[in-house]
Amino acid sequence: MMIQFIPFIMKFITPSVQLMKKYQWGEQPKSSLGLIKLNTNENPYPPHPSLSKKLANFDINKLSLYPDPLSHKLKKSAAKYFDLNDNMITLGNGSDELIALIFRVFLTRQDNALFTEYTYSHYKTYADAAGISYSTMPMKDFRVDLSLLNKIRSKLFFLTNPNSPTGIALQPKEIEPYVKSHQNKLFIIDEAYVDFSDKKSCLPLVKKYNNILVLRTFSKSFSLCGIRLGFALGHKDLIEGINKVKDPYNINALTQLIGLEAFKKVTYYQKNIEKIKKTRNAFSEKLNRLEFEFFPSSANFVFVRPPKSVAAETIFHALRKKNIYIRYFFDAKLKEYLRITIGNDTEMKRVIKKLETILN
Ligand code: PMP
Repeated sequence: MMIQFIPFIMKFITPSVQLMKKYQWGEQPKSSLGLIKLNTNENPYPPHPSLSKKLANFDINKLSLYPDPLSHKLKKSAAKYFDLNDNMITLGNGSDELIALIFRVFLTRQDNALFTEYTYSHYKTYADAAGISYSTMPMKDFRVDLSLLNKIRSKLFFLTNPNSPTGIALQPKEIEPYVKSHQNKLFIIDEAYVDFSDKKSCLPLVKKYNNILVLRTFSKSFSLCGIRLGFALGHKDLIEGINKVKDPYNINALTQLIGLEAFKKVTYYQKNIEKIKKTRNAFSEKLNRLEFEFFPSSANFVFVRPPKSVAAETIFHALRKKNIYIRYFFDAKLKEYLRITIGNDTEMKRVIKKLETILN
C-alpha cells in the first residue's frame, strides 16, 4: 500500500537531495563499556574538571530565554585567543555548520567549488545538498600539489590543513603565494587539527588577505565535540555575510557558557595536546616496527597501510570484534588504509598488543 505513495512524496525532495549520497559518519557504538573508540578523532581526555561545578551552578531559568545571537562574551574571549577583532569572527554549531553556511553564502549554482581528492568527505555532502557543483584536485601519493590551482577555475577552494584522512600538513608559506596570486578564489582553510601540528596556522594570513577564511573547532584539541562549537575567522565583510544567513540562535546558552569556560583553561588543553602528540609519536614508532607504512602525522590520528600480509579491512573487523573501533573507509581508493585516532597511552598499548596478535 505504502509503495504507491513513495514517488509522490519524493517529488517534495529537491533533485539534488534525491541524488546525493548520505554522509557516512564514524560508527557511534551504543555501549561504552570496555570500548576503545578511535574512529572519529575525538580527544581521549575530558574537558577541564572545573566545568562540572560551573554547570551545577548554572541558573536554569536562563534556558527559558533565547541565547545571545552574537555570543558577545564568548566572541570576546575568542577574539583574544585568536588575536583578531570581534568583527573578524563568527561562531558555528560545530565547524560543520559553518561549512554548510559557506556553500550558501559564497556560492551560487553557477559556481564551482574545489576540494582535494582525499579530504573531509562532508564537504561533498554539503555541496550536493546545496546543488553546487564541485571539482576535485588530484593528489599524488596523498600529497596536495597547489600548483594545480593555476589550471582550475573554481571560485572557492577548501583546503583541510592538516588534512584528513592523511594527517599531512602544508606550511602557511607554501599556501600564501597562491592566496596572493588567486585573488578571485576564496580559500577556506579548515584547521580542525592544526593544534596537533608542528606546522604553523594560516591564521595570520586572514589579516593580510581578503580572500581567505580559516575554520577552527573546539571538537578536537578542546575535548568539546559534544557542545558543537566552531569558529570562522576572516575579513569582516565575509564574516558579516555569514552572520546574515546563520540561524540567529545557532550557539545555544550552554555552549556559550562552556565555550567561555574553556577559553579560561587553555593551558590545561595545551597540556593534553602535548600528551596526545607524545602518544602519537610513540604509537607511530611501534607501527613502524610492525612494518606498517604511514605518513608523519600533524593531527590527532595516523593514516596507515598495514603490511601486505593482512588486509586493512581484516584488521578493522578483527579490532572491532575486540571492541576497538578505528576508521575504515569502504572506499575502493582507500581500501588499503586505516585511520586510527590517538587515544591515551593505555589505549594505544592495547591496540598495539591486538595488532601484534592479528599480524602473527
Ligand atoms: N573539518 C574537518 C577536517 C573534520 O574532520 C571535522 C570533524 N570530523 C570537521 C571539520 C567538523 O568538526 P565540528 O563540526 O565538530 O567542529
